[in-house]
Amino acid sequence: MAPVAITPESSGTTTPSTATASSLTQAGIKHMQANSNTGETANLAPLDASKMTTELTKSPRAVPEPMSDETKAQKTCTDHMVTAKWTVEQGWEAPEMKPYGPFSIMPSASVLHYATECFEGLKLYRGFDGRLRLFRISRNCARMRKSAARIALPDFDPKELEKLVIALCARDGAKWLPKERAGSFLYIRPTMIGTDSALGVQRPREALLYVIIACFPDMSQSLATPAPPALNGEPNGEKQHAPGLRLVASSEDTIRAWPGGFGYAKVGANYGPSLVAQGEARARGFDQVLWLFGDESYVTEAGASNFFVVLREKESGKLQLITAPLEERIILEGVTRASVLELAKERLTSAHDGIEAVEVVERRYTMTELIEAHKEGRFIEAFACGTAFFVAPIALIHFRGKNIEVPMDGDSGVYARVIKQWLFSIMYGKQSHEWGVVVEEQTE
Ligand SMILES: *Cc1c(COP(=O)(O)O)cnc(C)c1O
Repeated sequence: MAPVAITPESSGTTTPSTATASSLTQAGIKHMQANSNTGETANLAPLDASKMTTELTKSPRAVPEPMSDETKAQKTCTDHMVTAKWTVEQGWEAPEMKPYGPFSIMPSASVLHYATECFEGLKLYRGFDGRLRLFRISRNCARMRKSAARIALPDFDPKELEKLVIALCARDGAKWLPKERAGSFLYIRPTMIGTDSALGVQRPREALLYVIIACFPDMSQSLATPAPPALNGEPNGEKQHAPGLRLVASSEDTIRAWPGGFGYAKVGANYGPSLVAQGEARARGFDQVLWLFGDESYVTEAGASNFFVVLREKESGKLQLITAPLEERIILEGVTRASVLELAKERLTSAHDGIEAVEVVERRYTMTELIEAHKEGRFIEAFACGTAFFVAPIALIHFRGKNIEVPMDGDSGVYARVIKQWLFSIMYGKQSHEWGVVVEEQTE
């Protein structure tokens, strides 16, 4: 059960835009009352994008080239950011569009001690038709609300966050993602932190929501080109130019997420503790960790991406596109994951352009099952998917001393290739689709 009811996609408009904290869902109310000692929830100001003030930068910066060292460093953000403060007494203050730059918080701030932080990651795409698009942004905003609830950060109407993100994209998009860069993107990072300076372990009584846009290299491209930095000079990196990701299964003493935990939420607390395993994987010549769970070695996710396999079923001989289920809440519900499932159900369940039909299945599956399928020639392909790495074919899985060479059809598996093309077409406006949300850019 979700802690708060989530506005279903594309029905964002059914959420009253004037929603106050108290008119949000039953669950939301209980959630707030249970933890609010003063009962001040009644007259709280809702997050309201229409109240946004604007202060434009007086020192606009130069836009780096797409694959420059500056872009690869992932430190450059666009000229502006949007912030909105919340306090338990007042609710949400008017959002502010202002020059990108540092903010100050107290050393005792909740986020710095108790990891009261959640975030989103999505991209702004420059289409081949010259227009700017976001991909299924309502899903990111709904998920942000769910993540915030998990770490006692304040509730908000996801439609208002959507408007703030769109306003920032409209403001900085024309300059930072110019029309001649069709087929490229910027990375958007909505974030919320607990800024309350009280050091006691308690629900933050102050929070800050903000949105920034960063220049990011295209990692789905750089995977096929020379060694990632961590591999340079590594003796065992001889396969580094081969296409496809090389995954190393997590060891038994390192678990990303567990039932009752917070693996389903995009909270910072999920990522810091994964960096040791990630660093070790890189040092050993692998690209990402394949996160397993339990004594049975259930396969969950790869790095910060969802993970899919295509297996031929033993009895029926039919193909299945399989990914781990959401019920146990140890998987992050990726927007890309949902989109892959929906497209596959719509377009791959009957034979298509010479591609064999697959059954689309969300279920638990184990490493043992993958090893057996591989031995019997029934492991057809695997791919990871998420906003950052897009759809990334898998070439190898290393599990407890053994390598599983995952079949590839050239530089990708057949299913990863076709699904990636479909998504790409929607993101960059080659196919008009309800998932592609056009942003009208401001040119002044
Ligand atoms: C963000 C993330 C994903 C991918 O989600 P998308 O919405 O597709 O970008 C998958 N797994 C984890 C752990 C993540 O943090």
